Amino acid sequence: MAALRRAISFSNGKSIPVLGLGTWKVSQQTRLTATGEREVVRFDPRKRLALIPWIKSNLTSIKLWNTFHAKSSVLPALNTTLANLGLNYLDLYLIHWPTGFKEGGDILPADSTGKRLYSDVDYVETWEAMEECVKLGLTRSIGVSNFNKNQLERVLKVAKVPVANNQIEVHPYLPQNKLIEFCKSKDIIVTAYSPLGSPDRPWAKPGDPALTEEPKVKTLAQKYKKSPAQILIRFQIDRGLIVIPKSVTKSRIEENFQIWDFQLSPEDIKLLESLECNGRVCTSSELSDHPYYPFHDEY
Ligand code: NDP
Repeated sequence: MAALRRAISFSNGKSIPVLGLGTWKVSQQTRLTATGEREVVRFDPRKRLALIPWIKSNLTSIKLWNTFHAKSSVLPALNTTLANLGLNYLDLYLIHWPTGFKEGGDILPADSTGKRLYSDVDYVETWEAMEECVKLGLTRSIGVSNFNKNQLERVLKVAKVPVANNQIEVHPYLPQNKLIEFCKSKDIIVTAYSPLGSPDRPWAKPGDPALTEEPKVKTLAQKYKKSPAQILIRFQIDRGLIVIPKSVTKSRIEENFQIWDFQLSPEDIKLLESLECNGRVCTSSELSDHPYYPFHDEY
């Protein structure tokens, strides 16, 4: 079999590995005391870099949080991130959500009833400040996360720097064919988050469907002599996406990175896509009254 591609190029020519390691929930589960970006650095040497040295040069998908959307907040936020990580620049910096929160205080600002406090900063303004970060050499590429088609179009209208990446939830319960097709038409590479269906999401309930238990996934696992997780990871790569499965388990991290010796056939990709059930797990539905909530639109 021909060597399978392990990296992909953004439209600006910078390349990025197609497989990375998710880090959400890692700090709690590994009982690290540090918070925020310092976790990544502390997590990496022990578990990540030792296992997958080829990824070492690509610390990617660092995101700008919702409380730093104002034009004047973006550069200071990135500088703080770089200082926390001990880096001079990032490979990729993303706007985490299109939904801005009230700035200047708590990162999860809320009123006395617990209701989230929003800002009315337009993410287009945030994007313009992201472009300044590229011009200053503080990040090689920029992109967004959780943006829908309409939101991408608004950014594309003003963008002078390519929108390299949209990081969105993708797995067989939510294959996102339409949004992926749109992104491809605009040279935006898609990163699939929660590729295993995020079974350890804090709001999971007993009895929720589990992708790794799906008969179609198990059948393919037998056919290719791989694990269900490996099938779900390959599903993304074989559709031209970047994928970032999360694990804190050494054997699983190793397993998830042993996917270079097989490829799913187009028919088997279609079989997995047939599990589509609009099964979004990261709905952030508590933000559904935000003017920029991304998931009201069809895609
Ligand atoms: P995933 O879909 O990656 O699933 C993680 C879960 O799967 C964990 O419970 C993990 O267990 C388990 N798992 C991992 N490998 C295997 C395996 N080989 N066999 C069986 N089970 C396995 O969930 P996430 O939601 O964490 O998504 C991945 C990453 O995407 C996040 O960590 C984060 O970096 C990113 N993300 C981005 C978002 C955004 O808004 N941009 C939102 C959500 C996620 P264990 O760890 O115990 O081994």
